[in-house]
Amino acid sequence: MTVSYTISPLQGKVQHYEWGGFSFLPELLGINNEEKRPFAEYWLGVHPLGSAMVLCADSSIPLIDFIKNDPVKSLSVSVNNHFGDLPYLLKIMDVRKMLSIQVHPTKEVAIEGYEREDKMGVPRNAYNRNYKDRNHKPEVMLAISEFWLLHGFKQHNLLEEVLANTQEFQILLPLFKREGLASLYSFIMEMDQQSVNDLLLPLVKREIRNKRDGLLTRNDPGWWVAKYYHEENPVGDIDRGVFSIYLFNITQLQPGEAIFQGAGVPHAYLEGQNIELMSNSDNVLRGGLTSKHIDVPELLANTRFESITPKILKGTPLKDGETVFYFPVPDFALGYLQLNEAALFEDKASGPEIWMVLEGGVIINNEMVMKKGESFIVFPDQSYTFRTSGKTALCKAFVPADNAYSQSEEN
Ligand SMILES: [Zn+2]
Repeated sequence: MTVSYTISPLQGKVQHYEWGGFSFLPELLGINNEEKRPFAEYWLGVHPLGSAMVLCADSSIPLIDFIKNDPVKSLSVSVNNHFGDLPYLLKIMDVRKMLSIQVHPTKEVAIEGYEREDKMGVPRNAYNRNYKDRNHKPEVMLAISEFWLLHGFKQHNLLEEVLANTQEFQILLPLFKREGLASLYSFIMEMDQQSVNDLLLPLVKREIRNKRDGLLTRNDPGWWVAKYYHEENPVGDIDRGVFSIYLFNITQLQPGEAIFQGAGVPHAYLEGQNIELMSNSDNVLRGGLTSKHIDVPELLANTRFESITPKILKGTPLKDGETVFYFPVPDFALGYLQLNEAALFEDKASGPEIWMVLEGGVIINNEMVMKKGESFIVFPDQSYTFRTSGKTALCKAFVPADNAYSQSEEN
């Protein structure tokens, strides 16, 4: 394989999960979607479920093969020594329907779980497989639109309030006061289905009425409960994930704001468009609001039962319209670049950088044009200049220097 490790256009992989939107990603990527397929995620990375392709002069080569062909030229000496592969996966997401309640395991748990499921003979792609790889999956999301998500358990006093003020939850209050959050959450997640239905059906019906009557906003759990049931009274079993909508922080991000989700923090995306960056992993433990595999014991064993106040990150502004976000993991960092008309931006990659143009376009090194919806990889040690002709926005995934997080302003 004769290829050059300089700057190459990439083709990502669209994931058509049924919760995805119909127009945002097709419009971004310039794809006709007359048949109204859901476009949920656009992946740029080397995950086995969808490696990006490097577009060469007359062919395209999976990025994963590019890296295998020459790991040091693709990754740099230090990234290759530390990770042996591209450590991150960059996604653009469009959330139309809310996603499952989930947590991600630590690296240690992932390794142990992966080996345990292998020993038990659970096929790697089986529906009921929890651990798809040996990696942790910390993730960060940067909002492109106004974005709503559930993130971590509410503070103790807010939990008490919601239990006391929601008629159906009042019987849970003594347990919470006596034994705390872990006991409360385990109790509702392990409750028999009939009790879940008895408890939640009247609540769901009331919230649907309240939403129809215009009494709720997106800050109210009931708004999301009613949305989950399409504002129609449910038939059959009620999803116990509904409890979590009341117990987790309902968090709103404005475009340009980010939030980090480390191992054990329960969360669920509710609505909006974002850039998501994570370790190269697909290890998700789910607890409801999904037709995917749910494993409550594994979810509970990996959940951190602590109240948190969501920490909304605004990043560190650098030169020339660039904002960077660092996180307490070595696997990835995120850059966001906003350039005006006739701007010039110069930099040099120390490791592999994956870029995506979100708005406008750039001319790279006076020779390569990259427009909205296009993406490219800059290999290590390559210098580059971007010139713009109009208002332009790009995002960048990269591997941070060793002490970048401890030195960043938001730490
Ligand atoms: Zn997640």
